Amino acid sequence: MQDKRLSRFSALLALTLTLLCAAIPAQGADPDPEGSSGRTEKSLVQAQRFLMAAAHPLATQAGYDVLRKGGDAMDAAIAAQLMLNLVEPQSSGLGGGAFILYYDQSEDRLHSYDGRESAPAGAAPDGFLKDGKPLTYGQAVNSGLAVGVPGLARVLEMAHRAHGVLPWAELFEPAIGRAESGFAVTPRLHLSIEGNRSGLAAHAAAADYFLDEQGRAWPVGHILKNPAFAASLRALAAGGADALYEGEIAESIVRAVRTHERPGSLSMEDLAAYRAIEREPICGPYREYRVCGMAPPGGGLAVQQLLGILEHFPMSQYPPLSVDAVHYFAEAGRLAYADRDYYLADPAFVHVPTQALMDPVYLRARAALIQPELSLGVAEPGKPLKSGPDWGRGQESVQPSTSHLVAVDDQGNVVTMTTSIEAAFGSKIFVRGFLLNNELTDFSRVPRDAQGKWVANRVEPGKRPRSAMSPTMVFRHDQPVVALGAPGGTAIVNFVAQALVGVLDWGLDIQQAIALPHFGSRNACTELEAGTVLGSLAQPLRERGHEICVHELPSGLHGVMLTPQGLQGGADPRREGLALGD
Ligand code: GLU
Repeated sequence: MQDKRLSRFSALLALTLTLLCAAIPAQGADPDPEGSSGRTEKSLVQAQRFLMAAAHPLATQAGYDVLRKGGDAMDAAIAAQLMLNLVEPQSSGLGGGAFILYYDQSEDRLHSYDGRESAPAGAAPDGFLKDGKPLTYGQAVNSGLAVGVPGLARVLEMAHRAHGVLPWAELFEPAIGRAESGFAVTPRLHLSIEGNRSGLAAHAAAADYFLDEQGRAWPVGHILKNPAFAASLRALAAGGADALYEGEIAESIVRAVRTHERPGSLSMEDLAAYRAIEREPICGPYREYRVCGMAPPGGGLAVQQLLGILEHFPMSQYPPLSVDAVHYFAEAGRLAYADRDYYLADPAFVHVPTQALMDPVYLRARAALIQPELSLGVAEPGKPLKSGPDWGRGQESVQPSTSHLVAVDDQGNVVTMTTSIEAAFGSKIFVRGFLLNNELTDFSRVPRDAQGKWVANRVEPGKRPRSAMSPTMVFRHDQPVVALGAPGGTAIVNFVAQALVGVLDWGLDIQQAIALPHFGSRNACTELEAGTVLGSLAQPLRERGHEICVHELPSGLHGVMLTPQGLQGGADPRREGLALGD
C-alpha cells in the first residue's frame, strides 16, 4: 500500500516537474513596476569550494572574484552588494537597508544583523495623513516623507568588522571600476525604468541618470556610467560608513529629502545617530531540520509560523503543484499573515510575543483550524497570550522590489542577505549616484484604525518599519544545509516558505524549488502565479471555497544547498541573476 502510494507520488512528481519546465511566461502583460516580466530558465549550478548567487551576473562575478582570491562569504556579499547598487539600482543600495544572516563555521554560530532603515526623530505618526486622510500610495512613496535613515553602509561595516577577511576598501574596487567604465542596461532595468518613468522624471537628478534627453528610458544595451556613484564609493572605501553618515554625502542626502516638494524631516543628527543592530536570530524546528531567520522587525517570524503550521500536514505526500499542496500552503499562509498583520512591528517600540507566536502548542492549535475541503477565507489573528494587546488594523502597501544574495566560502561560512530600497527606485530621490529608500511606507499610513485603536506598526521617531524580508538558513545536525531568501514585498514570506517546502518536503533541488510557480495566500485571495500551469487549479480550488487571484508574483529568489556532494546554487528565472561557483 505504502509502495503503491509512493510510486503514484513519484509519477505525479515527474509529471509536475515536466509541467514545471513547460511553465510559460506571462504574455502581453504590461511591464510591472519592477520590470521583471519574462522568465529565463536556468540550470542548477554545482560547485565544490565556494559559490555566489545574486540578481545580476556582474554582481555574482564581483562576489565570485572575491571568493576566488581568498575573501570570505561576508567579503563576497559586500562586493556583490555594491555592484548590485550600480547594475540593479531599482532594488537596493547605499540609500536603503538590509538584513544579513552569517554562519561562522569556525565558531559554529549563526549571527544576524539588522540594517533596517529607521524613522527620523522628526517623523510623526500622522505624517502620511493630509487633512485627516492618508496620502495616496504614489504621493507617499515619491516623497521625502518616505525616506528612512539608510542602514546598509552601517550594517555592512558592522558585519565586515566581525567577519571580513579582505580589507574593506578592496571590496569597493569592482563596483568603482564598473561605475566608471559603465554597464549595459539590461532588459529588466529598461522595463523597470519604463514602468516608473513619470516618477523618475519628476526628480531632476534621477531623470538625468535614468532617462535620455527625450525623457525616454535608456534602451537595452545602452552603456550607463555613474561617476557620481564611483566618487561616493571611493569616499566610503577610504572613510568607512562614516563617510555616508556625516560630511558631504550626508549633507546631500539631507538636502534632497528636505527640499523635496513633499519634504521629510531627515536631519544630520538622524544620520549620525543611526546604528546597525546585531540581533539573536530566531530558530524553530521543521521536521528534522532547524530553520533560522531574522527576528522582528524582519520577516522570519511569519516564515516560522507558516512552516510550523504546515508541519502538521504531510506535504511530502502532496505533489508540488497539486490542489492539496496549494490548499494547505495557502491556509497556513492565511494564519501566519493574520498574526503578522496584527502583531509584527519594531520590538523596541511594541511588545511582539515572538516566542508565544512560535510555540509548537500554539501552532498546533492554529493548524487545527484548517479544514481539508474548505478554505478559511480570511483568518483572524490568534491569541497566544492570555491577555494580549488590542491593536487596530493598519494600512500598508509594500511593493515588490528588493534583492537577495547568498555566498558560501571555502571555509564553509555562509551569508544570506536581503537588501532593499523598498519600491522600485525607492523614493526616486537620486543623490550622489544612488537612490534613497521609501522604506517608511512599510509603516501603516494611518496611526489608528477606524475605531481609534493604535496600530502596532505606526510611524514613531526612531522606529524601524516592519519588514517581510526573510533571509533564511536551514540546519541539519547543526550544519547549514540550505540558505536562501527573496524579494517580493509582503509575498516574500510565501516565496521563502514555498522554496523551503520544495527542497525539504518535495526533494527538489534548489533551482527547481526556486523556479516553482508561486502560490499562496497573504490572508486575502489565494494567489496563483500568472502564465503558469497553476491556472488549471483555479476551479478545483474554488470548489474548496478559495477566492482566486491570478497575477504576476515577481520574486528573485537566490539560494544554495550544502550537500555531501558539494554546493548547489540556484537563481530565479524571473530575474537576470546567476549562481557561480568553483
Ligand atoms: N520593503 C519590503 C520589506 O521590507 C521589501 C520590499 C520587497 O521585497 O520588494 O518587507
